[in-house]
Amino acid sequence: MSIAEKYNEALQKKNAAAVRSGRAPEDVILMAVTKTRTADELNQVIDAGATDIGENKVQEVMEKYDKVKPVRWHLIGHLQTNKVKNIVDKVVMIHSVASFHLAKEINKRSAAIDKVMDVLIEVNSAMEETKTGIAAEDVKALAEEIAAECDNIRICGIMCIPPRCENPEDARLHFRNAKALFEEMKGWGLPEDKVNPTVLSMGMSNDYEVAIEEGSTIVRVGSSIFGPRNVR
Ligand SMILES: *Cc1c(COP(=O)(O)O)cnc(C)c1O
Repeated sequence: MSIAEKYNEALQKKNAAAVRSGRAPEDVILMAVTKTRTADELNQVIDAGATDIGENKVQEVMEKYDKVKPVRWHLIGHLQTNKVKNIVDKVVMIHSVASFHLAKEINKRSAAIDKVMDVLIEVNSAMEETKTGIAAEDVKALAEEIAAECDNIRICGIMCIPPRCENPEDARLHFRNAKALFEEMKGWGLPEDKVNPTVLSMGMSNDYEVAIEEGSTIVRVGSSIFGPRNVR
């Protein structure tokens, strides 16, 4: 199958899961995760209709940015503070904020270009040592700190990456917990221009339908669209 065919197949599944969850298809975004893929492959998925692209490395955004048709870029992987300056002008959202230290740098670099950056707080729902993200119980304190100090950041919700499991049903509880935290966030009473929870980023190739059933608003799908990745 071509990239366009696989993208469309994922789109159909995404739409069906959105309807199963009582929402309209357009209420859930299918993001194409393009790490390790070429600019040509990105253009193929954009031609097929993709509106949102996710990269996990700053370097890859910089390499491909000028070779790719207009699209909404998201940074979804671990972000080092010294690289923030290279992407604040390119991405519409940073999904992986897990420290005040990083938020401060995003704030500073966004202020320098007169931008308010949309970010998500990355929650490590299983508290796995190998993963980034913060514990669910620490999200409120971080959100409060960012809201108080960072005028050029708007927190739009949460990203969650549950442990990889063979059976997507095993991820359901993690997704449900992330959704509960996301709903809680709406009641924290933080200023709406600073914290406006509308985005729940969860679900990857093997579990995105379950994630949507549990309330995801944007799924990050790579290998189901582009095929297996060579490790790089
Ligand atoms: C690679 C990656 C994805 C996509 O993974 P697939 O299993 O290929 O769909 C989603 N989210 C993040 C943060 C990633 O790094």
